[in-house]
Amino acid sequence: MTAETTLIRVAVAVPLDEGFDYLWTGAGEPPAAGCRVRVPFGRSERVGIVLEHPATTALPRAKLRACEDALDTAPAIATELLDLLRFAADYYHHPIGEVVRHALPGLLRAGEALTAPREQGWRLTPLGRAQMHAPRAPRGVRQAAVLRELASESALGARELARRGAPPALLRRLAVRGWVEPCELAESPRVPSTQPRPTELKLTPDQAAALAAIEAVGDGFAAFLLHGVTGSGKTEVFLRLIAKLLDRDRQTLLLVPEIGLTPQLVGRLRERFGDALVVLHSALTPRERTAAWQKARAGEAMLVVGTRSAVFAPLPRAGLVIVDEEHDTSYKQQDGFRYSARDLAVVRARRLGIRVVLASATPSLESLQNAQSGRYRLLTLPQRIGAAGPPSFRIIDLTKHATRQGLSTPLLASIDEHLEHGNQVLLFLNRRGFAPALFCPNCQTAEECDRCDARMTVHARTGTLLCHHCGRERPLRWACPNCGTERIGVGAGTERVTDTLRSLYPDRRIERLDRDVTARRGALATVLENVARGDTQILVGTQMLTKGHDFPRVTLVGVLNADQGLFGTDFRSLERLAQTIVQVAGRAGRRDQPGEVVIQTSFPEHPLLRSLLVEDYTAYASLALEERRRAGWPPFSHLAVWRAEATQRPRIFEFLEKLRHYAASRRAAVEILGPAPAAMERSRGRYRAQVLFQSRERNALHALVAATLEALRGWREARRVRWSIDIDPAEI
Ligand code: ADP
Ligand code: ZN
Repeated sequence: MTAETTLIRVAVAVPLDEGFDYLWTGAGEPPAAGCRVRVPFGRSERVGIVLEHPATTALPRAKLRACEDALDTAPAIATELLDLLRFAADYYHHPIGEVVRHALPGLLRAGEALTAPREQGWRLTPLGRAQMHAPRAPRGVRQAAVLRELASESALGARELARRGAPPALLRRLAVRGWVEPCELAESPRVPSTQPRPTELKLTPDQAAALAAIEAVGDGFAAFLLHGVTGSGKTEVFLRLIAKLLDRDRQTLLLVPEIGLTPQLVGRLRERFGDALVVLHSALTPRERTAAWQKARAGEAMLVVGTRSAVFAPLPRAGLVIVDEEHDTSYKQQDGFRYSARDLAVVRARRLGIRVVLASATPSLESLQNAQSGRYRLLTLPQRIGAAGPPSFRIIDLTKHATRQGLSTPLLASIDEHLEHGNQVLLFLNRRGFAPALFCPNCQTAEECDRCDARMTVHARTGTLLCHHCGRERPLRWACPNCGTERIGVGAGTERVTDTLRSLYPDRRIERLDRDVTARRGALATVLENVARGDTQILVGTQMLTKGHDFPRVTLVGVLNADQGLFGTDFRSLERLAQTIVQVAGRAGRRDQPGEVVIQTSFPEHPLLRSLLVEDYTAYASLALEERRRAGWPPFSHLAVWRAEATQRPRIFEFLEKLRHYAASRRAAVEILGPAPAAMERSRGRYRAQVLFQSRERNALHALVAATLEALRGWREARRVRWSIDIDPAEI
């Protein structure tokens, strides 16, 4: 045996690009790719993942360290997933070791044992199943009998098979033809798919058509964009798809933006699928997370529901991926490994050769463009379930109507009317706290954060001033520290609007839903239940209101200030605003009661508001796509953003100037824009700026990013700042 045959390349969670090579000195063969190993690293030890068995190494023999400790006998990360992680590391230009760690729960990264190996068994492959139905398949009687036995079970143990007349040799012959494959047997028998289901609703013709279209493509990769207005029954379509997959013993991965905000959805899924469901999200304890992950890996969890990082869940029997609310920005990680779970979900489905469904009432312009170009198949559910029909929109011109702490007279009149009819009201305001500024009329200044270019927000209930960017907190003092004048809170946040409404409607129950409220454990569920039961008559809230809640008795939705989003600095600002308005409007009038949506703005003639008013999201989106095409923004070009920050302002510009200069010298088909200061230049005491790469050619863009990364490793300027690269940024 030569030394070369015993090399292993290991991914270790450190910010260096490549895997690390070790000499395998343990007993037996080196562990397979995807197995965990304990390796010496610096002066300590780390748990890493074997990436491959390289034939050679660039390291001199003397520097090569030994590894003799394999933690797994079977890969903790399956080949399919390891390949996806490698792809992601390349695509997002992020160190492989830090990418791979996203695929393992913390306890396993720390070296805890995988679930004990199960009894070995055999199962039918899709090819084997097809073989059974082939009209003239040449095969022996014994082989046909084995295939039939396996077809009626998810898998059978080797001993059980031998008892039924199928010795291992026969199974190995079938495996050579690709008709059966070895597997580990599940610990407990899976929930039998014949268990009685709750009475099924009769699908609407649109739902039935969407379901049929997805079913019709059969096995193999296919991507669908399910554009269904809120309350059109998208979730019901998911439930049917998942049930069908369960019958075929295949797993579904369902990605959702934030599980905590949508307890209703998980409730519905659990009712339908019981123990076949596991949930993966950040609020789990390490133990719960590991248990859910192990269940998914064992193929026992047939439905894996999770947030962003669940796109890396183990799925040995994957059959379908669904991304709910695919437009949601929480799918894009905003720091460290800046991946898009939505985009990787499509990549993973393609590599697995399975279907993927992206769903939303307000699809992203990227996905709509993919549907238009034929890459995704577009399915639409244009109507709400029930008799209510779409809500009506009304705009209140704030330049013509006085407001009282953010509430205009016509809006208050509408609130009165809806409450009189025994209905509920939702008011949306994307600003928590009491007032966004504390202003001294004498000094003419507002109190600012000392670390950010931002004003401190007044939080009257807790008696604090809070910076919403860095979290800096100070006690609230109304007297100006300079001149002693009594200061005033300018503008209104959710706290103030709630107070005002309570004084106007002392007999009504008025509640607030924002991050300050939900910081208390269990508070979110209580607030949502009170609304669902009808106890709360007015709910004032932030972005949290827009997330898929189904409140049957809400008939009025008020958008208190649309203007914050109308003139944002990002090319996506308007898209986000349109999505928010349409999502929050979707909470109005869900069943048999028509809904009304009132938008307060000082710019009633803005084209976005006009198109939402007289038409709908689709109309807005096609206008917006045209504009993007003309301006050459995504999805008609690709972006990468280099961000840098430092406590000393000149340092970031020295670095970014050098970067721009270098990139320009490469003469690639890439436009280089900047350096430009960030929208809020100083945050947490650091100055921030960026350089933007933009290109119509993805390959040219990625090649230039790779070359620049390579070059900047040697720059002194790069070591004096904190820098990052963000591919397909959600914000610029
Ligand atoms: P979406 O996910 O598009 O917002 P849901 O699937 O949550 O819509 O459906 C909205 C409401 O309509 C839910 O309460 C659901 O139970 C109900 N619903 C869905 N499909 C049907 C149907 N075919 N018949 C009757 N009610 C339905
Ligand atoms: Zn701050």
